[in-house]
Amino acid sequence: MATMLALAKSRPEAGLWQITAPVPEIGPDDVLIRIAKTGICGTDIHIWNWDDWAQRTVPVPLITGHEFAGRIVELGRNVTGLEIGQRCSGEGHLIGRDSRQSRAGKFHLDPETRGIGVNEQGAFAEYLRLPAFNVVPLPDAIDDETGAILDPLGNAVHTALSFDLVGEDVLITGAGPIGIMAAAVARHVGARHVVITDVNPTRLELAIQVADVVPVNVAQEDLADVKARLKMREGFDVGLEMSGNQAALDQMVENLVMGGRIALLGIPPGKSPVDWSRIVFKGITIKGVYGREIFETWYKMIAMLENGLNVRPVITHRFAAHDFAQGFEAMRSGAAGKVVLDWS
Ligand code: NAD
Ligand code: ZN
Repeated sequence: MATMLALAKSRPEAGLWQITAPVPEIGPDDVLIRIAKTGICGTDIHIWNWDDWAQRTVPVPLITGHEFAGRIVELGRNVTGLEIGQRCSGEGHLIGRDSRQSRAGKFHLDPETRGIGVNEQGAFAEYLRLPAFNVVPLPDAIDDETGAILDPLGNAVHTALSFDLVGEDVLITGAGPIGIMAAAVARHVGARHVVITDVNPTRLELAIQVADVVPVNVAQEDLADVKARLKMREGFDVGLEMSGNQAALDQMVENLVMGGRIALLGIPPGKSPVDWSRIVFKGITIKGVYGREIFETWYKMIAMLENGLNVRPVITHRFAAHDFAQGFEAMRSGAAGKVVLDWS
């Protein structure tokens, strides 16, 4: 039996372990992908830490990882339209086809969604089995490293394109990799001012290296002063919440215009108090955002990358796969943007 190297949650405790696993066997509708690069996600950190969410969600043992780029090396017998040797990334959410939303073509709203590297065998491995339906071919203009971060870029694009940003003033709370990429997207599609907040100066420093944005450390500076400095009279038109932090959402509501719109991607750790009356009286619209639109987000993001959107500087660390522990350490330090592992 052919074997491969992989990173797995092998025991129900903190950590990930390098293992030798069988190369996955593919079904008639699947492809086998030789992984080239993978991204480490905040989700992978939760799984590493084995927090409450991970304990409730992740089966043991499981090969983790869901952000990847690679090359197709085997096609199931029913697969058409793809070729061996094709470079690709892919949608890591595996969807059912029976729900009302799926049958309406709104695949990203399927309630049966299962995630590779979370519920199903993942991409931190030399080989990944993926339904051909989930494969997204990569044009030559998008290299493997960028291909490996299309999943989080897709979160950023899905959130940023939730509302029309042309000429609007946009507030992004949380300068993690996704907030920073959302800022780059907001700029690319024609927002006027893009203000990004954080409490971590390293993250704000990275934000201005990636996109033409106004960084604000909310531990030191008041957003009201920033609005005055930018000559904004009423408030931000659109808010993209990307920190999962309660205080950030409060600040966003406070600094939005009447009738402003908020897209929420950040995941708070538990229940958190919300001043709903403030939201009601301001006439604010709130949209929850999960994953990527399948496959409209992928289409838009690839088109933008081919047309000048550059998010590469958000990748701050690169390691060989067997040095994964260093990669996770960099992520856990809070000093990193995206961390990419090389499986070639
Ligand atoms: P991250 O944890 O790297 O970034 C969050 C940032 O928010 C950090 O830099 C942190 O310092 C900052 N922050 C903390 N308190 C703040 C405050 N009061 N004001 C402003 N910023 C503050 O996360 P990420 O990987 O960039 O992801 C962003 C969020 O999106 C996370 O909450 C993550 O769980 C969530 N997420 C959601 C989906 C989805 O499908 N809905 C997918 C991926 C990630
Ligand atoms: Zn991810």
